[in-house]
Amino acid sequence: MKGMLGLLLLSSCAMAQSSLFLEAAAKRAKTTTDKFLEKVCDHEKDQIAKRVFWEYGSVFIAGEKVRIPRTCVFKDEESVRDFHEELKLSSARIGVAEITLQTEAMRSLLDAIDEAWAQQLRITPLDGTIAGTRDYQDTVRLWSSRFNRALDYWASRGRIRESEADAARKLEPHEQIPLVIKWEQARLWFSTGFNKSIFTSVAAPGTSQHLSGLAFDIVEHSNSRVRSLLNKHGWFQTIRSDEPHFTYLGLAEAELPGRGLEMVIHRGNFYWVPRSSPANSRLIRRVADSPSREGRQPRRQSPSYP
Ligand SMILES: [Zn+2]
Repeated sequence: MKGMLGLLLLSSCAMAQSSLFLEAAAKRAKTTTDKFLEKVCDHEKDQIAKRVFWEYGSVFIAGEKVRIPRTCVFKDEESVRDFHEELKLSSARIGVAEITLQTEAMRSLLDAIDEAWAQQLRITPLDGTIAGTRDYQDTVRLWSSRFNRALDYWASRGRIRESEADAARKLEPHEQIPLVIKWEQARLWFSTGFNKSIFTSVAAPGTSQHLSGLAFDIVEHSNSRVRSLLNKHGWFQTIRSDEPHFTYLGLAEAELPGRGLEMVIHRGNFYWVPRSSPANSRLIRRVADSPSREGRQPRRQSPSYP
């Protein structure tokens, strides 16, 4: 009985924590939680939306000076283009690449870069222009580079029938997502090495934070001084295991818990993620168990696409 009570308390506590993030996101979108679920991110019915919201969803509580994405999953090129037309965007040459971001995010990034220069530090884009804002086709290209290769691999080994693979190639990118989920549940992995989920290295088409104009991938992510500088200017790591990827939240770090985010540690890096995300609570050690932030070791650089 006592154990049952503990379980009930634990589950109601988890629900309360989960709803804090959902409530904060709905409030930021100036709507109710019901309407938010219906219009922006139906995480109860759509498993991709659920993943986007609870794993990459920190951007939905970003500060008032930027626009948050109007949906968890953009279905096509036109919907992304419409959203981009609503944004105040600015471009700047950073390192060797032309980078575009929402104006407020760019202003804060350039401030961070200036401050970095004064300390003999650099903040430079990873992989050129796609380090900043991407369009729908950019996300499709990255998705297809993984999807088609893995499809060929599993079809050549007879694990997926050729006819099924052919049919999958002809689908619209967003229609390929549930198939990948189904195949990966059968352990036919779609990552580059065919040994883990495709979602560990690439976002599903139409779901990348880079579509929002609020994400920037950097080369120097293993430098703790660079990370601290970006944090000071409102940029935070928010996608677990995607080390080079920073999201402009435009808020002070102290404000983030009140918006339903929690800081977690994964492989020595600190991420601000939706509180009590099922995946996060399963896979991430809480920061309370972690070494001090200053004690973090630099990690090798890895490509960043989500
Ligand atoms: Zn990124």
